[in-house]
Amino acid sequence: MQDNMKFATKAVHAGVEPDPTTGAIMTPIYQTSTYVQQGIGNHKGYEYSRTHNPTRTALQNSLAALENGKHGITFGSGLAAIDAVIKLLSPGDEVISVNDLYGGTYRIFKTVFEKFGIKFHFVDMRNADILDQYINANTKLVWVETPTNPTMQIVDIVGVANKIKGKSILLGVDNTFASPYLQNPLDLGADIVMHSVTKYLGGHSDVVMGALILNDDELAQRLYTLQNSCGAVHGPQDAFLVLRGIKTLHLRMKAHCENGRVMAEFLVKHPKVAHVNWPGLPSHPNHEVAKTQMRDFGGMVSFTLKENTIAAANKVVSAVKIFSLAESLGGVESLIGHPATMTHASIPQAEREAAGVLDSLIRLSVGVEDINDLVADIEQALS
Ligand SMILES: *Cc1c(COP(=O)(O)O)cnc(C)c1O
Repeated sequence: MQDNMKFATKAVHAGVEPDPTTGAIMTPIYQTSTYVQQGIGNHKGYEYSRTHNPTRTALQNSLAALENGKHGITFGSGLAAIDAVIKLLSPGDEVISVNDLYGGTYRIFKTVFEKFGIKFHFVDMRNADILDQYINANTKLVWVETPTNPTMQIVDIVGVANKIKGKSILLGVDNTFASPYLQNPLDLGADIVMHSVTKYLGGHSDVVMGALILNDDELAQRLYTLQNSCGAVHGPQDAFLVLRGIKTLHLRMKAHCENGRVMAEFLVKHPKVAHVNWPGLPSHPNHEVAKTQMRDFGGMVSFTLKENTIAAANKVVSAVKIFSLAESLGGVESLIGHPATMTHASIPQAEREAAGVLDSLIRLSVGVEDINDLVADIEQALS
């Protein structure tokens, strides 16, 4: 396949070759743990499915192509992918990350890795200059989410990359919210892109999976070794489902973006709504940066209520009929969530509120249903 394929063509074709034994156009689910060898050291590239599996290989190659990377490495969940990145580090190393981090990422940093002697700083990275205060000889990784979850802050990826250029510090970007359709951090100077494949890439709320995509061969080797050594791999059936999901990623994302825009514009005008977070709004504080690094603004919208209480938020999230109250995001169906008590419950209240996760904050994963039905649903829930 040519390298210069456009995104939609890559989504449909990249990484996937007809099955060599039958010509099956869809990569089969190689539901096998082991592979018969012809003689000592003589095999077809596959020995054991923790190490390699052909369905996983096709998916890894597809994901690499979508992010304009050389290597794709998939894991049993997004957090397993992040776990592998932190295991590149050693005791005494320091990580600088955003203060509005996915709750599970914060939890693995604080409760799992801090006790192994790795130090984490959580900072407001909307202005990349803040890094000057935290970078020192021990800094080995900057870990960014953009847009952030759930307040949809935007971090300037090029700005952060420039701050650490020439230093032996890796830049990792959690690109889950944007998906490769909207943003390609490797092209902007990141070393590692991470996805919770569970979300937009899978797209149908039926798989939990994570991925890392990168260009550097040596770093990729270290991460493949971690994938194999620590063993947080997924099964071939999950790889098949995600390969299928990716074929419509561009179609789904286009609909998510269109619906996200209409929903954000509706909420901005609603009398009970205090503030709307969506990077496509000109009023968004980093709208200009978002325009330079994203091709559109996605289907994730969050908002606060003028009555800033958990009770007020609970009334809204309990009254929806088409939206479903659930964690997660990025599926074809619309979800509504309450970050303060759901995804961000493990973050101490003061820290949570400082990061803008107020009691009344409601997060929407706007799906691909008819937008008139979705707006009507939120309208009746708000009233
Ligand atoms: C869901 C999510 C994760 C964690 O991924 P899992 O697949 O649930 O392990 C990490 N980052 C972001 C932004 C997420 O939304």
